[in-house]
Amino acid sequence: MPIVNRVADLHREITAWRRDFHAHPELRYDVHRTAGAVAEKLKSFGCDDVVPGIGRTGVVGVIRGRKPGKKVVGLRADMDALPIEEETGLPYQSAVPGKMHACGHDGHTAMLLGAAKYLAETRNFAGTAVVIFQPAEEGGAGALAMVKDGLITRFGIDEVYGMHNYPGLPLGEFAIRPGPLMAAADHIAIELQGKGTHAARPHLGTDTILIGAQIVNQLQSIVARNVDPLESAVVSICMFQAGQTDNVVPQHAKLLGTARSLKAEIGELLRQRINAVVEGTAELYGGTAKITYTNGYPVVVNHSRETAFAVDVAREIVGEDKVDTDVAPVMGAEDFAFMLQQRPGAFIFVGNGDSAGLHHPAYDFNDEAIPVGTSYWVRLAETALTG
Ligand SMILES: [Zn+2]
Ligand SMILES: [Zn+2]
Repeated sequence: MPIVNRVADLHREITAWRRDFHAHPELRYDVHRTAGAVAEKLKSFGCDDVVPGIGRTGVVGVIRGRKPGKKVVGLRADMDALPIEEETGLPYQSAVPGKMHACGHDGHTAMLLGAAKYLAETRNFAGTAVVIFQPAEEGGAGALAMVKDGLITRFGIDEVYGMHNYPGLPLGEFAIRPGPLMAAADHIAIELQGKGTHAARPHLGTDTILIGAQIVNQLQSIVARNVDPLESAVVSICMFQAGQTDNVVPQHAKLLGTARSLKAEIGELLRQRINAVVEGTAELYGGTAKITYTNGYPVVVNHSRETAFAVDVAREIVGEDKVDTDVAPVMGAEDFAFMLQQRPGAFIFVGNGDSAGLHHPAYDFNDEAIPVGTSYWVRLAETALTG
């Protein structure tokens, strides 16, 4: 059973929505135009209920099947873009300077809208399909905001599913795995205090650049020497600010970075060791460090039963050999993790073909993936809700 016929008919219309979203990117929770268009379309499809303002600017659509059934399945897409200057030169390129749909959330939103249109038309299922459009996936934890706003309990969601496009994975293919799929990403902020002095008299001060440089090096010993080689972890310092000129030893320095892992216990080990290494190194050189370690998105952990179910649905759409059921996890993060902490479900990757990478100024969502992703959504709802 390949692409759903009716979905193939909708391909052009969904593509037009996608390109309109692409031309009008919005950031974080400020997705007012996009959320407004989503809510308006859901109403025009005849959804039984359309609720805006969940988690600030999230939108939820409720579609009840023709047959009686109690089960409620949640399908989730994200709506936000990134603060990147687009360099695609496409006719529907971003009309907003410095903002761009570089993660394909325009495609995710359009595909789920297409599925909602189909499901509201056909209603060939028993129970309820809830379509979830969230803001602020890119760093704002919009999924958590929706959960805190009662998403799961208010709509009675029993299972929840998510999808992300995947550059490099061929068009018409899916990839997924049970267990950890995407990393937890914690935030490291370090403020160093030393003692400023004339560059020619360093012995009278405490050099925060030297301390910071040692910290950057020492932190790399954590993954190399504290984490089990068979586990996965990343520690990256990505910002180091200190000093203004060439003849002053700076009194202050600031470093920012990220720590990532695929298991909560590894995340905890990273937190402990990063704190010890930063404080110890600063003390060793006579300075002090204030470290702020903040837990970010948790690990995306796919539930076994729901992953096996998602695999069956994906195979139905694209064929047995086009679904990688044991894809390597990635160290990128996804706030869909918060929804998977609430209810069983699965997150799947859909092939975007040979495109530029996510978050790259030349990236574009592949419209040829629309029939594949939309068919997956509609079959997933219909199959999960057979009654
Ligand atoms: Zn992204
Ligand atoms: Zn994304």
